[in-house]
Amino acid sequence: MKQLQVITGCMFAGKTTELLNRLNLLKEQYLLVKPMMDNRIEGDQISTHNGIAKRAIRVNNLSEIFKNLTNIKVVGIDEAQFFNKSIIQDLKYLKSQNIKVIIAGLDKDYLNKPFGSMKDIISLSDSVTRLKAICNYCSQEASYSHRKNTVSQNQFLIGNKNFYEALCESCFQKINCENGK
Ligand SMILES: [Zn+2]
Repeated sequence: MKQLQVITGCMFAGKTTELLNRLNLLKEQYLLVKPMMDNRIEGDQISTHNGIAKRAIRVNNLSEIFKNLTNIKVVGIDEAQFFNKSIIQDLKYLKSQNIKVIIAGLDKDYLNKPFGSMKDIISLSDSVTRLKAICNYCSQEASYSHRKNTVSQNQFLIGNKNFYEALCESCFQKINCENGK
């Protein structure tokens, strides 16, 4: 089994569902972690777009879980793109402690630019799985996250179906052309 696994792709690709499936299959005690700023749901739940929910520890920095690692062999991280770049050091520490880490996160933002530290996390990883969504317009394979409401320029606008949709490459290009981007 690979030590540091990344699950990435655009929004609505099923990254969180895949993360929870892998954690459950391992049959080991694990910690589930997510960044404090993901306030999609109140409190400490991780919920997938298809409704599965799990409890997670919410932290500003991954190193905050280091005191909770007794008997823990696996750590799952969701929405990893929202962590600042100190996550790289923290992942190296977990690796040095022989802890398996499974990380889910967006590789690119709604402008198709690299998101947060995901690029660096991916280069550190032992395996990368890129999941695809289904295009909201033509039902082809989609790998772009499109922001429907472009009033906010904030890269960190939290994802949900009111603000975002998954698009294939040609629909993404077409819509951004029409919007004059
Ligand atoms: Zn399309």
